[in-house]
Amino acid sequence: MRVLVVSDVHANLPALEAVLAHARGEYDALWSLGDVVGYGPYPNECIATLCEHPHSAISGNHDHAVLGRISLNDFNSDARQANLWTRDQLDERSRAYLSTLPETMVIDGFTLAHGSPRAPIWEYLLYARNAEESFGHFDTPVCLVGHTHVPLIFGQGRDGDQVDVLPPHPGLTVQLDEGRYIINPGSVGQPRDGDPTAAYLLLETELGTFEHRRVAYDVDAMQTVMRSLGFAPRLIARLSFGW
Ligand code: ZN
Repeated sequence: MRVLVVSDVHANLPALEAVLAHARGEYDALWSLGDVVGYGPYPNECIATLCEHPHSAISGNHDHAVLGRISLNDFNSDARQANLWTRDQLDERSRAYLSTLPETMVIDGFTLAHGSPRAPIWEYLLYARNAEESFGHFDTPVCLVGHTHVPLIFGQGRDGDQVDVLPPHPGLTVQLDEGRYIINPGSVGQPRDGDPTAAYLLLETELGTFEHRRVAYDVDAMQTVMRSLGFAPRLIARLSFGW
């Protein structure tokens, strides 16, 4: 089965639409790794767009916060402000959708967790050291995570000791071997790896292959809307730099 994996859409509808158009005809299933809302001006529209496709989804910290399930004290002021704005905007359908999302999921032999399989809501997996501990917290060969907004691959050899951080090569199909992996597709709506284009992953579950991908979207149009709604300048500016 061919799967389109998205994460951290963050209410960025132009970016989500660009990803869906870019991958059109190349996937049979859609998986979302959380944080569909927060930061951006299109929370209801992004949820509605995901719901146009049969898809499987888990929740992220912003999804939890907008429902009031976790405190906003752990958010920086821009994220907090955006989250409070989102709470006001969220319609009943979107609220109902977010409230049904599980924290983790195992689907077709893959584990999905927003932050990490050890601490799905909050842990950031950026380094081999914390990824190493995460490998003990899921049973499938591959776990897909988001949260850092950085496309990345952690590979654990067959001996179960060494964990390597492998850089993604956008556009290149990679064959999974017999080791275990934690793979981050990067963020659709707010990339933080220095590349402002929307990031996503294509997965072929039977062949055991995956491909990181990038696609440009209309950042200017998104920023104009954010400015008109009074979003924090830093949230607007960072979309230009992918940081
Ligand atoms: Zn996020």
